[in-house]
Amino acid sequence: MTDKPRLKVVIRCNQCGERFILRGKREKGRVETGFKQCICNNASDFEIQENTF
Ligand SMILES: [Zn+2]
Repeated sequence: MTDKPRLKVVIRCNQCGERFILRGKREKGRVETGFKQCICNNASDFEIQENTF
């Protein structure tokens, strides 16, 4: 059985306000997007929204 719900993840940088829209998947209670850091070098201060497709 393949049961990997896909998510649209909206990540908003709290430092510069840039928004990134990524596809993610939920694995073991956390969301995996592959997102590393913002263009402003912020790597930890984000507002994250998950939306199912
Ligand atoms: Zn930023």
